[in-house]
Amino acid sequence: MRTNQKQRSTADYQAMDAAHHIHAFLDQKALNEEGPRVITRGEGLYVWDSEGKQYLDGMSGLWCTNVGYGRQELIDAATRQLKELSYYNMFFHTTHPAVVELSERLFSLLPGSYSHVIYTNSGSEANEVLIRTVRRFWDVMGQPDKKIFIGRQNGYHGSTVGSASLGGMAFMHEMGNLPIPGVEHIDEPDWYRHGGSLSPAEFGLQCARALEQKILQLGADKVAAFVAEPFQGAGGMIFPPESYWPEIQRICRQYDVLLCADEVIGGFGRTGEWFAHQHFDFQPDTLSIAKGLTSGYIPMGGLVLSRRMAQALIDKGGVFAHGLTYSGHPVAAAVALANLDVLQGEGMVEAVKQDTGPYLQRCLREVFADHPLVGDIQGTGMVAALQLCEDKASRKLFANEDDIGWRCRSHGFDEGLIIRSTHGRMIMAPALAITRSQIDELLSKTRRAVDRTARELG
Ligand code: PLP
Repeated sequence: MRTNQKQRSTADYQAMDAAHHIHAFLDQKALNEEGPRVITRGEGLYVWDSEGKQYLDGMSGLWCTNVGYGRQELIDAATRQLKELSYYNMFFHTTHPAVVELSERLFSLLPGSYSHVIYTNSGSEANEVLIRTVRRFWDVMGQPDKKIFIGRQNGYHGSTVGSASLGGMAFMHEMGNLPIPGVEHIDEPDWYRHGGSLSPAEFGLQCARALEQKILQLGADKVAAFVAEPFQGAGGMIFPPESYWPEIQRICRQYDVLLCADEVIGGFGRTGEWFAHQHFDFQPDTLSIAKGLTSGYIPMGGLVLSRRMAQALIDKGGVFAHGLTYSGHPVAAAVALANLDVLQGEGMVEAVKQDTGPYLQRCLREVFADHPLVGDIQGTGMVAALQLCEDKASRKLFANEDDIGWRCRSHGFDEGLIIRSTHGRMIMAPALAITRSQIDELLSKTRRAVDRTARELG
């Protein structure tokens, strides 16, 4: 029998958690000693912990609660769907209204060059499905040797075997003999870190042309796809120079290599466009989606296919031996639809493009332009990063940048703010529902966290 949760103290939760639960991406022993923060409630832009402390969530959970926490429309949609049809599957020649409605809505947001989606439960799964679907596509096209994927150093595409292989996180690859065979990587387009004396435009072209060199080295007849996030998130918050994406697209087209955009964090309005590739102005062949599709209220992801790919798979492919029990789950589909209703009905994506996004970006630059610890400010729409550095003039980074980023994040928690750090960059990606006054709060709390970090460093 379930005990009334309210009777438990923070210490109870921490002890029970330590006894039975392995967390994501951290040293479990250290966590158990410290005890995790227990988040118990969320509303709008804010979450509360079990001690009653309120935090402005500058990360929208994990870049996912795009409409904010606790929206009644999504709760009602889930409840209605649970009553009507709590589960059915996409096997056995069946479908259901929620998934049909969602698919139609999804493609009303996308240009006509995309036509079909394979639903998954997460972003990692979307990228697993990507590997199988792309390889199947080239089989069907009579080019079975086109099997190799090219990803990027520090790209992040998920934590499962295939998706972590597509990603380029060295510390993930070290654990478990990754990447799997048939996955190669090129350098990331991180001008601040690797650009040296090149201009951003020159560096962007150089990074893009590394793809061409890799394709030529491997043989274009062997390369299936290039996979990348339009802006690189977890692996360093990298906004590529403007020269990068047009050149990548030219190369992919020239060598008939599929261009696969991981839109898991960029999708559903983050940049002020519905999808981040629209902001960066390139046309991928596939889109991996998740997170903002349901604003994180319930797990759902998917792989969107271009008309060309879908048509080939449908017309010539026969049975595709692939399927997930929860693919197109009716409750997730109903929540996704309600989420899109809110995003569209309240014009949240347009607001990010025309109002709150430019406001965040302008104020961020005003607040941090002269800060001695902040060497660079990047971002667009409702996503931004502050590069912490030891010396601004020479772009010198801290040797212990992860440690400094984590310290700054901790100061944020003390200030009642959730921001994240990666590679010495402080990330903010709040819900699209944020108001101007909440942006002011976000920035003043972030400023205090960065100031405290600077004072600590002397
Ligand atoms: N792709 C990108 C760009 C991501 O940022 C993430 C997660 O943060 C994923 C894929 C993996 O998604 P999930 O955690 O839902 O498996």
